[in-house]
Amino acid sequence: MSTPTFGAGIWHFATYVDRYATDGYGDPRTILEAIELAGKVNDLSVVDLNWPFFGGDFSNEQIKTSLDAQGLRAIGITPEIYTRTFSKGALTNPDPGVRRLAHDLITEACDVVRSFGADYVKLWPGQDGWDYPFQVDHGKLWRLELDGLGQLAGENPDLKFVVEYKPREPRVHMSFDSVSRTLLGLEQIGLPNIGILLDFGHALFGGESPADSAQLAIDYGRLFGMDVNDNMRSWDDDMIAGTVHPIELMEFFHVLRRNNWEGVWQLDQFPFREDSVDAANLAIEFLKRVHAALDRLDEDALAAAQEAQDAVTANRLVHGALFG
Ligand code: FE
Ligand code: FE
Repeated sequence: MSTPTFGAGIWHFATYVDRYATDGYGDPRTILEAIELAGKVNDLSVVDLNWPFFGGDFSNEQIKTSLDAQGLRAIGITPEIYTRTFSKGALTNPDPGVRRLAHDLITEACDVVRSFGADYVKLWPGQDGWDYPFQVDHGKLWRLELDGLGQLAGENPDLKFVVEYKPREPRVHMSFDSVSRTLLGLEQIGLPNIGILLDFGHALFGGESPADSAQLAIDYGRLFGMDVNDNMRSWDDDMIAGTVHPIELMEFFHVLRRNNWEGVWQLDQFPFREDSVDAANLAIEFLKRVHAALDRLDEDALAAAQEAQDAVTANRLVHGALFG
């Protein structure tokens, strides 16, 4: 099969602050500097852009010029609905005024998507949820989430929206915490233009088998995008893809191939202490190895092994294809 298109969240090339290194792990960068770094990665074709653009007041034209210079295209726009203003939630904020701000910010992001000809608005409602027992009325919170999302999707039928679920962080418990709950919500909204962006690491973190999560989302026609990284399973570490869970990563891509899912293979990594270009290169090198291994994998033999739930034979086939 032909080589996939590779992409990355532009934040991969930013620098980060956490609650300990409050002075940051590097000097702040502008989005233009991040785009320039992204351009240095081998075989990177698309980027997901945070919006508003970080590090300065940049016009869409400036960003487009910079992307063109690096041979990059915007695949998605991610409105920042998880910053201080939205610390008690975006679409689920108890203050209707703040919910309106979230709606307006996402609506502005829709115009940015149109202006860039990007594929989707990426929603990561990291603050929508709760922290403490008894803090929220669970029924009401979920209704606010679905009403807010449904309204946006209904108002912008020409666009696609993707929801990226994750169990927790920054909110102690996120509303869209898992593949099943997200699908349940999207099916209840019932609009064709909202799907899931499946983050491999979020599925791992949530105790899911990412391959199964992908199959479920595909079966409901809702797998609109994906990104990969790796973690130790107890947190969203956003490490370099393939470094910790290579076999599950391979199973994930195997499911995508078996279903003829043809989308961008995107990186969502946070190289706190690593060189960001090198970290992206290593991930893409590994993803290419996975792609080549899938070409070598004996699909018929694997199907027969799976028919019998023969774990040993299945894994011998996978090891042979991946490790030679
Ligand atoms: Fe992600
Ligand atoms: Fe994440």
